[in-house]
Amino acid sequence: MALRRVVMFGEDTLRKTSRKVEVFDDKLWVLLDDMQQTMDQFGGVGLASPQVGILRRVIVVEDSDTEKRVELVNPVITKEVGQQREVEGCLSSPGEWGYVKRPERISLTASNRYGKEFQLDAKGVFAITICHEIDHLNGKLFTDLADEMVEDEEELEKAKRSRNRKCKRKKKRR
Ligand SMILES: [Zn+2]
Repeated sequence: MALRRVVMFGEDTLRKTSRKVEVFDDKLWVLLDDMQQTMDQFGGVGLASPQVGILRRVIVVEDSDTEKRVELVNPVITKEVGQQREVEGCLSSPGEWGYVKRPERISLTASNRYGKEFQLDAKGVFAITICHEIDHLNGKLFTDLADEMVEDEEELEKAKRSRNRKCKRKKKRR
């Protein structure tokens, strides 16, 4: 396993569309392992492969309720219900925060690292994380969608507390 460099806002890679994974081989597994390690290092709850410079439809997300990580290869959202608006940040843009509207609940299909397809339902902060990371696969950044950026430190703490109240286990932040 190796730590990968995180691509930052302003770099072209983050604006490109990622290609579908067709081959589920050891190259993919190394990428996933490296993404896991990179998340450990930088403490995020989600990472998309373009953020480590690889334009493949691969994301790793953490369920904020269970703190379990899920690897999603070729994720496709099949259903969106409701709406929520919470503060978001990104490992590719440390220190930048903004409010984004997202669906409250989503359903999706994806494959695991061995190519086995499965279905997943997500709500609350976990749904936000998945939508944020899938956007990365389409070259979209949260700052494109944010209707308000949060500059003030106190305002930011309040916004994070509000978002974390949605999680069953409250210790993680991003
Ligand atoms: Zn991001």
